[in-house]
Amino acid sequence: MNIQNNSAVSFHYKLTDDDGISIDSSEGKEPLAYLHGAGNIIPGLEKALEGKTTGDSLTVAVSAAEGYGEVQKELIQEVPKDAFQGIDSIELGMQFEAQTGQGGTVPVTVIAVTDDLVTVDGNHPLAGKNLNFDVTIEDVRKASEEELDHGHVHGVGGHEH
Ligand code: ZN
Repeated sequence: MNIQNNSAVSFHYKLTDDDGISIDSSEGKEPLAYLHGAGNIIPGLEKALEGKTTGDSLTVAVSAAEGYGEVQKELIQEVPKDAFQGIDSIELGMQFEAQTGQGGTVPVTVIAVTDDLVTVDGNHPLAGKNLNFDVTIEDVRKASEEELDHGHVHGVGGHEH
């Protein structure tokens, strides 16, 4: 069958940036499984897979906007070092959960440290990057009622619970 809304799809992929540097790959792992039309994967990739079927291979170039979004300057913030109580040394690349105004948390990464200020970045690590996928579709089937209920795919490469 062809990929359409409510299809359970699994695929292998290689992801590279515009310089051909490998970012991620499913090589040697289970294929990635997702529920089509549920926003499980980035919009640019989901759109490109629509209508494809088992065995199809395709190359998909996804712009930053249709991937993990552009870098948002307001997500980069300077925080006084005092705010990091109980942490002996704050180093580049460390990750923290920051409180949002809405009561949730977002992961942030330390991108600069001075004597009394720490700069943290709440953007996704792949924000602002164009993404190039090499995709091979392994399987397309109709999602089960339970999967549709949960909004994700179960079994190999999907959620296990
Ligand atoms: Zn589930």
